[in-house]
Amino acid sequence: KIVDIEDLPFVGPATAEKLRDAGYYSIEAIAVASPQELSSVAEIGEATASKIIAAARKLANVGGFETGDVVYERRKKIGKITTGSKALDDLLGGGVETQAITELFGEFGSGKTQICHQLAVNVQMPRDQGGLEGAVIVIDTEGTFRPERIIQMAEAKGLDPDKVLKNIYVAQAYNSNHQMLLVDNAKELANKLKREGINVRLLVVDSLTAHFRAEYVGRGTLADRQQKLNKHLHDLLRFGEIFNAAIVVTNQVMAKPDQFFGDPTKPVGGHIVAHTATFRVYLRKSKGELRVARLIDSPHLPESEAIFRITERGVED
Ligand code: ADP
Ligand code: MG
Repeated sequence: KIVDIEDLPFVGPATAEKLRDAGYYSIEAIAVASPQELSSVAEIGEATASKIIAAARKLANVGGFETGDVVYERRKKIGKITTGSKALDDLLGGGVETQAITELFGEFGSGKTQICHQLAVNVQMPRDQGGLEGAVIVIDTEGTFRPERIIQMAEAKGLDPDKVLKNIYVAQAYNSNHQMLLVDNAKELANKLKREGINVRLLVVDSLTAHFRAEYVGRGTLADRQQKLNKHLHDLLRFGEIFNAAIVVTNQVMAKPDQFFGDPTKPVGGHIVAHTATFRVYLRKSKGELRVARLIDSPHLPESEAIFRITERGVED
């Protein structure tokens, strides 16, 4: 419930601003800082800095442990966003869940980006219509976000397209480091919006893997790529937990679902994504508008398939 650095003792608006300018956007970041660092960036005494850090540690749960009842309280708040297709929602156990990473993977044109657009619209709808009345953050790495498509989908749902667009915050990621940095920025933005009474309920990373794949080509850098991607995914999951938001990432694969992420004989990133993503949906093209979605190794849902369509109106049955 406490996610703002202003909620810490001795942190007023001026100190908070200095801290944010220096990159301390979250309670977690402050919790692992040293009193010397904090004292110098916030221009406060070291004793005060120590007290702030101590308070942050209590709130941030830096030790990594929390009691079962705390986990239970958080899990009770899990929300679901409709995809627009009843069949696809059913496959996912009711829709795309908050506090989890849903990975959409499939070949070019299989509908990954279309589903991301549709979710960005649907999450804004009222709860009784499958939405969460929330805002959206999109990290676009391939330049495929299309406001025109959002307008089309919003109109099909009878929503005001202007309002819908104003609730979608888009950033282009120029490389993998920038992509990772944008998750920190997203946290800052989500906190700011929260103070204004707006809840971010969906964070899209489309594509999760394209930059990583392009930048880490040689064998020697595979471990490095794996480590970075792992950190990135955990940052994303953390975002989902802190803000009770759904995390949707895309991953383009070649012909075979098991052989993706660069060198098919070394599916390093593939395994990492597989272990962190809570829901993995393999998409493939069928005739015309038809698409087939298959849920891959979900811990609590049966592996099955759903057929849906991508039409001018968006994702439908
Ligand atoms: P990817 O998996 O590569 O991200 P996309 O989500 O971009 O694939 O899917 C592209 C496909 O979505 C197109 O080939 C087309 O079938 C469909 N599509 C995109 N825009 C529209 C539209 N306005 N009307 C109907 N179908 C569309
Ligand atoms: Mg795409």
